[in-house]
Amino acid sequence: MTQQRSQRSHQQSPISNVRRGDIQRWSQTLIPTAREAPSDAELPSHRLLVRGGFIRRVTAGVYDYLPLGWRVLRKISQIVREEMNAAGGSELLLPALCPTELLKETGRAEDYGDLLMRFEDRHGRDSYLAPTHEEVITEMARGSITSYKQLPLNLYQIQTKYRDEFRPRAGLLRGREFIMKDAYSFHLSLDGEAGLNAGYDAMYRAYTNIFSRCGLDFSAVEAEAGPIGGSASHEFMVNCESGEDTILVCPETGYAANVEKCEIGERTAPARGFFAGEPTGELDKIHTPGCPGIVEVCKLMKVKARDMLKTVVFKVVASTPEEAEGYPGDWWVVAVVRGDHDVNEGKVRDFAECKLELADPEQAKRAGFEIGFVSPRAAVGKPQTLLVIDPDAAVGWDEGKDKPRFWATGADEKDHHVKHFNWARDLGKDPALAMGADDCFFAVHSIRNAIEGDPSPRGKGEPLQAKRGIEVGHIFKLGSKYSDAMGFAIMDENQQRQSVIMGCYGIGVSRTLAACVEMSHDDDGIIWPAALAPYHVLITVMKADDERQARVAQQLADELSERGVDVLIDDRSERPGVKFKDADLIGIPIRLTLGDKALDQDSVEFKVRGSEGKGELVAVREAAMACLENLA
Ligand code: ATP
Ligand code: MG
Repeated sequence: MTQQRSQRSHQQSPISNVRRGDIQRWSQTLIPTAREAPSDAELPSHRLLVRGGFIRRVTAGVYDYLPLGWRVLRKISQIVREEMNAAGGSELLLPALCPTELLKETGRAEDYGDLLMRFEDRHGRDSYLAPTHEEVITEMARGSITSYKQLPLNLYQIQTKYRDEFRPRAGLLRGREFIMKDAYSFHLSLDGEAGLNAGYDAMYRAYTNIFSRCGLDFSAVEAEAGPIGGSASHEFMVNCESGEDTILVCPETGYAANVEKCEIGERTAPARGFFAGEPTGELDKIHTPGCPGIVEVCKLMKVKARDMLKTVVFKVVASTPEEAEGYPGDWWVVAVVRGDHDVNEGKVRDFAECKLELADPEQAKRAGFEIGFVSPRAAVGKPQTLLVIDPDAAVGWDEGKDKPRFWATGADEKDHHVKHFNWARDLGKDPALAMGADDCFFAVHSIRNAIEGDPSPRGKGEPLQAKRGIEVGHIFKLGSKYSDAMGFAIMDENQQRQSVIMGCYGIGVSRTLAACVEMSHDDDGIIWPAALAPYHVLITVMKADDERQARVAQQLADELSERGVDVLIDDRSERPGVKFKDADLIGIPIRLTLGDKALDQDSVEFKVRGSEGKGELVAVREAAMACLENLA
């Protein structure tokens, strides 16, 4: 399932045909609109949600959801519920406050590190506020599911999550407290109707329905499983320039992947073979003090990043005591890419076939790696080391310029770099000859993040295109990662004990709200899609104390409510200019304006948010119908 979906459709009417719509008077609720945006608000969703009185900041990454904001969140949650229920899910609610003991079984207290909101209660018990609920639900399921007859099962909740994000950002896009829908599925097989694959596909379809119904323009892309682990995963990305994530797409085949996951099609090896080419000069050591990153080093040395070799050192982490015993001592993986590229840890890990972590500088120094100044030479002569070089970095000849390739790299000495590095000369041996036994192991392999223009892994030679996105949903096949770690096994049909196979499926409910605003706004304010709008119709009464206007407003509101439409009546005694500005800001899809001039002709002004110019006059008795037609 690698297709890209990009759509904007409403498969279902946003208007309820079973319940009466709500009627709310502005004067009786709290919508604290503001002219000024908070000074730290860089993105439109942050600015507009605060200015529109949807949310209010309490502290970094923590917000009040005010009445309008909460209404939108409830509408998103309702869509999520309907689609999750239709896909066979059952809703429950697990605690946010959990004992850290639960994480001991999976080692995730360490994996989460500072992201985990952790504290001691008054009795000294180590506790945390859940960033996600795999352990909690696995513990619950372990105690409640005893027979294969109870599977498959899909359980979900819509709940507040806590992550101590280093940089909470952009209002609701990256909070420290946020609302997530998280679902977990339980199976005994991968295949078949009751298997994980079918359960995963059902969630994929449910997510497609959810985000389509929310009126979002989105793509489903292949993704890294991340710290949650497992074997397969997709992210649902709202296509939006202000997104933090980069996705790469192959327009030819529809392949789409997160930059961390994206494979790169075959890159042609240099005609002369890897590494071949004479030195461009004597090795020239340069003092580069006080350069915290590659940008500063390049500036000081007057070289381009693409002419640098970037070397990242990883330490191999043993997953089991047996593994540690089988490979005694420290093992290292030294990854080399071009300076303008990024090492992809997942690709290095997959190639090395072992768990890795970035080397600790002190420990690495004792092993002969001067972190920050490491060159590929540092691996030579170290038997417990794998030197793996990306194809773009493993060249000695500049094909474009038809001359030997210039390289600069670290000098393996603090505060020093070298110019004129040459693979053949400076490794002291022909690197293409595999080393081994008493030296490092050696390989050329694709280990960097894909970038725009790279060959697509699917369409032959087709270049990948980059797009920005906001991750609003993420689905994973977990396999038995958690059930193995937590001893969750049950008897199958043949009375054999089997680990339960799991999937997990998240949606950022509060992030979806912000993503929707990112996608749908103009200079004046938000433009809600009908499905998520806090109210569908805003009735603006020009004179608050005018009896006729008040009466017609109530009559229209009743008529609309009768048909399931949610109505907000702006009955404040404010100047019309203020009311119109606020109306644009909060973005209700339709505004009906009641003024004397129009009412003298038995009409109201009908205006769709986001449409150009003045509204049109519509007869009072036809106004409700006009709204319904527009909202359908
Ligand atoms: P990110 O990469 O953006 O940090 P994640 O991949 O760590 O997110 P998941 O563990 O996949 O997040 O969580 C499921 C969903 O919860 C995400 O797809 C996203 O929509 C939402 N989410 C995660 N972190 C946050 C946050 N700090 N604020 C708001 N929503 C979030
Ligand atoms: Mg994710």
